[in-house]
Amino acid sequence: MTPPTNILVTGGAGFIGSHYVRTLLGPPMLPESREDVRITVLDKLTYAGNPANLDSVRDSGRFAFVHGDICDTGLVDELVAAHDQVVHFAAESHVDRSIVGGGEFVRTNVVGTQTLLDAALRHGIETFVHVSTDEVYGSVDEGSWTEREPLRPSSPYSATKASSDLIALAHHRTHGLDVRVTRCSNNYGHHQYPEKLIPLFITNLMAGRKVPLYGDGRNVRDWLHIDDHVQGIELVRAQGCPGEVYNIGGGTELSNRELTERLLDECGAGPDSVEHVADRKGHDHRYSVDCTKIRAQLGYAPRRDFAEALAETVRWYHDNRAWWESFRV
Ligand code: NAD
Repeated sequence: MTPPTNILVTGGAGFIGSHYVRTLLGPPMLPESREDVRITVLDKLTYAGNPANLDSVRDSGRFAFVHGDICDTGLVDELVAAHDQVVHFAAESHVDRSIVGGGEFVRTNVVGTQTLLDAALRHGIETFVHVSTDEVYGSVDEGSWTEREPLRPSSPYSATKASSDLIALAHHRTHGLDVRVTRCSNNYGHHQYPEKLIPLFITNLMAGRKVPLYGDGRNVRDWLHIDDHVQGIELVRAQGCPGEVYNIGGGTELSNRELTERLLDECGAGPDSVEHVADRKGHDHRYSVDCTKIRAQLGYAPRRDFAEALAETVRWYHDNRAWWESFRV
C-alpha cells in the first residue's frame, strides 16, 4: 500500500485553509476528500484564526494542530522536515488593515513565506503550493488577466502577496523547488471572519446595523465559492506542474452595488440599510482573471451556482450566530 502524503497546511484555522482541511479529511463521498493524506495545520491563531473552524476534523487520526508562527525558523524547520508537501494559506489577508499599517503584512506574508521556502529547500519538500490572489495583477478595466501578465499590485496587502509569489517562483527557477502558485478571485462562503464584504454585510444586517458601501459602489469583483476554490487548489496540488501559476475564478462578476442589493434581498432589508462611505484609498476598480489554463490543463470547472450558494451562506450566518457574535464589538 502507498504510504499517505503528509501535508503541512499553514493558516489552516482561517477561512479558506480550514475549508480545505475539512474537505480533504471529510466524508469520502465529497469529490475533494482524500483518504491518502495526513494533515498538520500550523496556525498562529491571529484574530482571523479560529480553532473551532477545525472542530469537525479534530478527532480524525489523520489530523494534527500546531499553534505557531510561520516566521519561527526553528519550528518551521522541524515541521517541514516531517512533511512531504506544503499548502501555504497563512497570511494577513485584509486590505483595509494593510492600509492602516503594513508591517505585519510584510512580516507574515513576505518573511513568513521566505521562512517556509527556505525550510522546503533544506528538506527537499516534494511540492509547495503557494495560495495567492488576483489582486497581484492590479486593476483591469476590460478583459481578464492571464497568468503571463506582469504584476502591478496597488495595496500594501497585494504588494506583499506579489512579493511572496515572486519569491516562491524564484525558488523554482533558481533551485528547482516544485513550487506551484494559485491566484484566486474573491472568496465567499461560511466561516469567513466578518470583516470582508459578504460576511460583514450579512452580520451587520442580522444585527440591525447599516452596511458601509465604499464610494460609488461600482467596483467589480469576481466571486468564487470556497468549495470551488478548494477544487482548484487540490487540482493544482495533485496534478499541477512545478513552477506554474494557475488563476482560479468563480465566473460571477458583480459590482459591489449589485452584490449589496442581492444581500439586502437575502436578508430582507431595504436600501435605507446602506450607508455610503468614503472610498477605500487606492481602491482598484475591477479584478478579473482568465481561467483558461486551469480549465484546459487540469479540468477545473466551478460547480457552485452563485445565487444558491449566497443564500446558503446567509443561512449559515443566520444559524451560527454564536460563531460570529463573539467577534463583534
Ligand atoms: P484568513 O485571514 O481568514 O486566515 C488567515 C489564517 O492565517 C488565520 O488562521 C491566521 O491565524 C493565520 N496566520 C496569520 N498570520 C500567521 C502567521 N504568522 N503564522 C501562522 N499563521 C498565521 O485568510 P483567508 O481568507 O482564509 O485567506 C487564505 C489565503 O488565501 C491568504 O493567503 C490570502 O491572501 C489568500 N486569498 C484570500 C482571498 C479571500 O477572498 N479571502 C482571496 C484571494 C487570496
